[in-house]
Amino acid sequence: MLAIISVVVSNAQLDTSKQTPESSELWEPVPRVVSAPPSAPPSDAIVLFDGKDFSKWKSAKPGGSIQWTIADGAMTVKGGSGDIETVEQFDDYQLHIEFRTPAEVKGSSQGRGNSGIFMQGKYELQVLDSYNNRTYSNGQAGSIYKQTMPLVNASRKPGEWQVYDVVYTSPKFNKDGFPTHPAYITVLHNGVVIQNHTPIYGTTPYVGQPKFEVHGKGPIRLQDHSNPTSFRNIWIRPI
Ligand code: MG
Repeated sequence: MLAIISVVVSNAQLDTSKQTPESSELWEPVPRVVSAPPSAPPSDAIVLFDGKDFSKWKSAKPGGSIQWTIADGAMTVKGGSGDIETVEQFDDYQLHIEFRTPAEVKGSSQGRGNSGIFMQGKYELQVLDSYNNRTYSNGQAGSIYKQTMPLVNASRKPGEWQVYDVVYTSPKFNKDGFPTHPAYITVLHNGVVIQNHTPIYGTTPYVGQPKFEVHGKGPIRLQDHSNPTSFRNIWIRPI
């Protein structure tokens, strides 16, 4: 904001004949340095899962314990054991998460590789095997569940690792509980833009309409939808 204000100038200064190239240069503040190696999280990322343990996670059931499994650097849903969520809570962030739907194809439509990633524990970015698997478009992989379908279907084959890179902004509420702006989400699926600054209109229930509930920070929640979908290399950068 300071940078914007500093270039808003008087009408006299709008006379370009009186300006120099230097008059519109900003030298302060200086963006801090983040190293971004090609095959590792950025240096300022919070690593939520590095393939070894559930230390950054807990059961989404109060008092419950995690029964999902870890093998070969990936965690896998144990069907029926319940959702898991991060211990730490977040509002605005960049999230990187890799997922793999089962190589052995069972079921169809919503019953195939179903899981989900809930922003702030409330708003589901759908995880599904959407490779040659027709379902309702606002419920396929990369949809904001039951709201906004992905721009395209960038799904890889069952059993292949896939990536979601997410930029997410929390909704804001006034003191009366009205949302003054919705949540916004941008998603790249395997490097392809599938959600472009998409507004999220509230919660993402299976039945019924989205609802806005006033909330603060929330966890990243991963869904147990009975299918043994896996996740790995999960990191987040609050922004
Ligand atoms: Mg789901």
